[in-house]
Amino acid sequence: MAGAPQPDCLFCKIVSKDIPATIVRESATTVAFRDINPQAPTHVLVIPKAHYPDAASLAAAEPQVAADVLREAGEVAADEQVDGTGYRIILNTGSGAGQTVFHAHAHVLGGRGLEWPPG
Ligand code: C5P
Repeated sequence: MAGAPQPDCLFCKIVSKDIPATIVRESATTVAFRDINPQAPTHVLVIPKAHYPDAASLAAAEPQVAADVLREAGEVAADEQVDGTGYRIILNTGSGAGQTVFHAHAHVLGGRGLEWPPG
């Protein structure tokens, strides 16, 4: 079934709490937790509870949940007080773009200057 938990998916296990994570926000459809290898003072991942391999497939199947992810990313930025100075939401898609976990996730990065273009 589309969106069903996948037994070998790390982020599905974070959703089910079988793997620990530092969860900072949770909604009916999303979980937000601190990245284990932070790249900025604020580095939080917002994921849908449903399993989709990337953001585009999530948006195609469940557009409201994709919107929930973006809303929660904004709430994380406000909670972390980086919304005033600016922050970045990153959706790495595909291994060539640096995606390593194939469960859709939005990185929320802030708390330092962010270069453009990204590497
Ligand atoms: O976009 P990408 O797929 O590379 O992002 C995956 C992110 O998941 C990495 O930033 C990595 O540090 C993070 N991660 C995590 N907790 C884990 C495994 C990976 O926060 N247990």
